[in-house]
Amino acid sequence: MSTLPLPRVQPVAVPILNDQQTYPVRRVFCVGRNYADHAIEMGGTGREPPFFFLKPADALFPVPVGQTVDWPYPMATEDCHHEVELVVALACGGRQLSPEQAASCIWGYALGLDMTRRDRQAEMKKAGKPWEIGKAFDHGAPIGPLVPIGERGVLIEGAITLSVNGTVKQSGNLAQLIWPLAEMISELSKAWALEAGDLIFTGTPAGVGPVQRGDQVDASFEGLPSLSLRVV
Ligand code: MN
Repeated sequence: MSTLPLPRVQPVAVPILNDQQTYPVRRVFCVGRNYADHAIEMGGTGREPPFFFLKPADALFPVPVGQTVDWPYPMATEDCHHEVELVVALACGGRQLSPEQAASCIWGYALGLDMTRRDRQAEMKKAGKPWEIGKAFDHGAPIGPLVPIGERGVLIEGAITLSVNGTVKQSGNLAQLIWPLAEMISELSKAWALEAGDLIFTGTPAGVGPVQRGDQVDASFEGLPSLSLRVV
C-alpha cells in the first residue's frame, strides 16, 4: 500500500454563460483543415475528408466574458500560432451517428482558440511523427463560456474573426465549413463512441499566424461572447 497521499485532481469544467453551473469536460476533439482556404494555406487541396486529433481536457483555458486575461506564451516554441474556432459541446453521443442524430446531440457552443506550436508541429509532420507537442500543450485551448443551443439549432453560418493588436488576421464564416457541424460529428462518431461532455473544436479559417508576448488577441463569433487575451 502506498504511503503517499493520492493526488487531488480537479475535474475539468467550462463555465456556462449566465449560469452558476459548469459543463464537465470529458474529451477535447479537434478537426483539421475544415475550411477550404485554411486547408489550402496548409498545403492541402481544400477537399480532403475530415481528420481529427485531440487535446487533453486540461489544455482548456477558460476566458471570462468582458475581461482581458493574461495567456502565458507556451514553452518549447518560437512560432506559436492562433487558430480561432467555433467549439461544439455534446449533450449525448453514440457511435455511427447519422447527421440528424449528431445534430440532436449538440448541447451548446463556445468560441475557442486552437493554439498551435507550429514549429514543433511542422517538424513532427516532416518526420512522420505524432503532433501532440504541436497541439496538446498546457493552456493550448483558450475557451469562452458555453452558450446552450436554445433556439439556435445547428449553426450553419456566422462570422468568425480574430485580430492581433487591432489588425484583423482571420475573418471567415461558418458557412465555409467543408464538413458542416452535423456531418462532421457524424464522421467523428465513426471513429470514437462520442459521449456527453465531449467538446469539438470545429476548424479554423485562413489567416493563421504567430502571436508574440505583449500581443493583444481578440476573437469573436456572431452571437457568442468574445475572447480577449494578452499574451504574456
Ligand atoms: Mn485547428
